[in-house]
Amino acid sequence: MDLEQLWQLTLGEMEVQLSRANFATWLKGSRLVDKKDGVFLVGVSNNFAKEWVENKYQKVLLGIIRGFDDSAKKLEFVVDHRTSVADPTLKKITSADVRTFGNQMDLDFKVDPETNLNPRYSAATFVVGASNELAYTAASAIVQEPGTKYNPFFVYGGVGLGKTHLIQMIGNEIKTFHKGKIRPRYVSSEKFTSDIVWAIRNKRMEDIKKRYRDVDVLIIDDIQFIGGKEKTEEEFFHTFNALYEHSKQIIISSDRPPSSIPTLEERLRSRFEGGLIADIGYPEYEMRVAIIKGKLQEHKRSLKDSVIELIARRVKKNIRELEGVLNKILFYQDAKYIDIDEKTAEEIIEKSVQNFSRRVSDDHILKSVAEFYHLSVDDLLTRGRKKEVVEPRQVAMYFLRDILDMSYPYIGEKLGRDHTTAIHAVEKVNQEINKNSALNQKINIMRELIYKN
Ligand code: ADP
Ligand code: MG
Repeated sequence: MDLEQLWQLTLGEMEVQLSRANFATWLKGSRLVDKKDGVFLVGVSNNFAKEWVENKYQKVLLGIIRGFDDSAKKLEFVVDHRTSVADPTLKKITSADVRTFGNQMDLDFKVDPETNLNPRYSAATFVVGASNELAYTAASAIVQEPGTKYNPFFVYGGVGLGKTHLIQMIGNEIKTFHKGKIRPRYVSSEKFTSDIVWAIRNKRMEDIKKRYRDVDVLIIDDIQFIGGKEKTEEEFFHTFNALYEHSKQIIISSDRPPSSIPTLEERLRSRFEGGLIADIGYPEYEMRVAIIKGKLQEHKRSLKDSVIELIARRVKKNIRELEGVLNKILFYQDAKYIDIDEKTAEEIIEKSVQNFSRRVSDDHILKSVAEFYHLSVDDLLTRGRKKEVVEPRQVAMYFLRDILDMSYPYIGEKLGRDHTTAIHAVEKVNQEINKNSALNQKINIMRELIYKN
């Protein structure tokens, strides 16, 4: 395998693990420049990216590369000006690569600056099944008559299950269905927040107000991130009311229902609950097969039925992951000029699926929890009944169970206790989460910490 192939496979995996924005910001255009005595030299586009990738992604990258080439010992990073997008020769290479793997398919599409919508999220490529039927039905009704029936429309579900696709699709379809007479606007809640912060700092609140209140359909993605940001919530609330009073459609997505965003202001929550709330669940087997076939068709590619079925059986809980595995298999097929059989597909899946769960280890959980409470891991592990370690210890046990599904005896052993203590701890935290919103909030922050690093 040459360096370029190796790097493309590595990026393929990274892409599944990172948010789209992060991937594009830090890794797009990067390449493997050289390899010598187990040291791999990675070229990135600027100093900023170098520092970031070095600090945040070095470990994960090395792990992935090792999966493909076990001679890898170390990564080093350089700023490589050839990776800058301004270079026309490189641009050519990346967009050709793009077609063969990764849902960098994005790059083939242009985000509409007016609406901020990406045309890749169309109804034509959206597969409907039992898990998203309600959300889809509501979406279709909204496309025809925005602002009337289901307002606001709140859709929630786990990572990679199609929330962004669905809500952007509504915007895109509205544009065509109403021939441009109804103006949608899509915004991530990070963007919304940063706009507000910018406006406050630059005393341009009026501009921002106008920009957001001047649309006919406002689509906000991942609203859970504005929970707890006071000024942003305040402004969102006013924007919400202004639009709502004028019968403008509001569409919101989140990874959980409004009732489970602990930091969300009560008045916002009740507004959300006044509209239609639909969830998107895990796709069932037939739907996963349909999604794979759809993607193959979209890219004019083919795979044996047995391989398609195998992927559908193995990747169940995340459509982005499903796409990632599919892309990787197609990439192998291209690189080797062969039709992938089940055995090879199985190996590829095995590797990537392992990688997903390898991301979080029990030690990593302990470390993250300790870090959150400003303790050392040893503080969590040593016996003794110091009051300030009671909660951290219980929370650590809770996460070992919740994230890794570990047995109680194992959890007990890990923390130097017996298994009844572990059961008690996990139950205690589970009960407390429902009653104690401060604890709930802490748990959410820690969970993000655990998944992030
Ligand atoms: P979320 O926003 O819930 O994390 P996305 O909307 O980004 O998930 O979906 C992840 C990937 O899966 C995207 O590439 C999207 O196009 C694809 N996808 C999600 N749901 C469907 C579906 N029902 N049919 C086809 N592709 C889908
Ligand atoms: Mg999303």
